[in-house]
Amino acid sequence: LPTDLPVDHNKYTRLLPFKYNGKKEKATFVTLARNSDLYGLINSIKAVEDRFNSKFQYDWVFLNDEEFSDEFKKTVTALISGETKFGLIPNEHWSYPSWIDKKRAADTRKTMKEKNIIYGDSESYRHMCRYESGFFWRHPLLDEYEYYWRVEPDIKMYCDIDYDVFKFMKDNKKKYGFTITIHEFRDTIETLWETTREFLSLYPQHIHKNNMLDFVSDDNGKTYNLCHFWSNFEIASLKFLRSQAYRDYFDYLDHAGGFFYERWGDAPVHSIAASLFLDRDEIHHFEGMGYYHGPYHQCPINDQIRLHNKCACNPNDDFTWKDYSCTLKYYDINNITKPDGWKDHTG
Ligand code: GDP
Ligand code: MN
Repeated sequence: LPTDLPVDHNKYTRLLPFKYNGKKEKATFVTLARNSDLYGLINSIKAVEDRFNSKFQYDWVFLNDEEFSDEFKKTVTALISGETKFGLIPNEHWSYPSWIDKKRAADTRKTMKEKNIIYGDSESYRHMCRYESGFFWRHPLLDEYEYYWRVEPDIKMYCDIDYDVFKFMKDNKKKYGFTITIHEFRDTIETLWETTREFLSLYPQHIHKNNMLDFVSDDNGKTYNLCHFWSNFEIASLKFLRSQAYRDYFDYLDHAGGFFYERWGDAPVHSIAASLFLDRDEIHHFEGMGYYHGPYHQCPINDQIRLHNKCACNPNDDFTWKDYSCTLKYYDINNITKPDGWKDHTG
């Protein structure tokens, strides 16, 4: 371009966006957010668009317990290549169910604050975890979709994704895809496993014959080993969450009250459900996706993958093979070949 003349941008810019002309899946991004999350969220959206979605133009559903502001709606819509949809969460999905003793819930928050448990004193965080466990997939805006990809504020996508991941899920019969795994803080889920065991004794029909119990328990179900898929990133099937098994499980947990009397997270809930109710072959690790959600990174340590996907991250920051991650266990119990050099990334 001539540099000494004013540039006619219209002449050099592709005005019409590239339109993907393959067959798209019934899939959408989904983000739960407050209006105040907007400026952290746009970094996430831009990264997802640049690395993936501008090539495929999937829709994006936003959910909030308050009305989204016009500023929020116009800003995210300008960044997204697919359609944007904005949903208000009904009050019944973001409030105390009738059977919850609010005094007991308040006492828990006080004790957890004294013990310095992360988000231990937060009421809204508990509504958020309960919502992400039991309700987002029931929002009517999600009815038309079969798969979702959850995106949170302030994440990074480090690598190009040049294939349609939703089509990948469908073609390979995958129901739950993850990037990072980690151990849960025991103090937040003291009775989650015994509640799960009660549930399983009442509903044994929901346990899949080829389940992945060994991902969440090291003693054949006696205790929970705290392993879970980090649910701030999820690419998963809505059919899984809509299943009778998952509905019955959520209902049972919800009545037990641990979302309020403890601080059960949606990550262990989704993960235990996926590990028990799905065929273990329906669970997938997206090893080629570079991902960051504070404070952990997934940066593919395999040079071929990292360079091919143009990943902008340092493999020495990768969390995948570290002790505190559960991904090594996932590879071992499923006899999946680990990338060369994984042992150099454990420390
Ligand atoms: P963390 O990742 O566990 O530290 O939790 P976040 O603060 O990232 O919250 C998880 C997700 O829920 C994010 O997408 C937030 O934007 C969203 N979120 C958290 N609290 C609220 C809330 O009170 N209202 C709404 N609408 N969204 C929330
Ligand atoms: Mn987050």
